[in-house]
Amino acid sequence: MRDFNRGGQGGKSFGPRQMYKAVCAECSQECEVPFQPKEGRPVFCRNCYSKKKNG
Ligand SMILES: [Zn+2]
Repeated sequence: MRDFNRGGQGGKSFGPRQMYKAVCAECSQECEVPFQPKEGRPVFCRNCYSKKKNG
């Protein structure tokens, strides 16, 4: 299984990530997430996310 070796997109992808603004579904705070929030899908800020993970 060495399938992820294909494609050839240079090698510089470790720059600053694109962040997307979103509103936390838990505390309603504005936050930024490293992925594009999808409609109908709750987004959690870091706080709530880790809370859920631990909780
Ligand atoms: Zn939150």
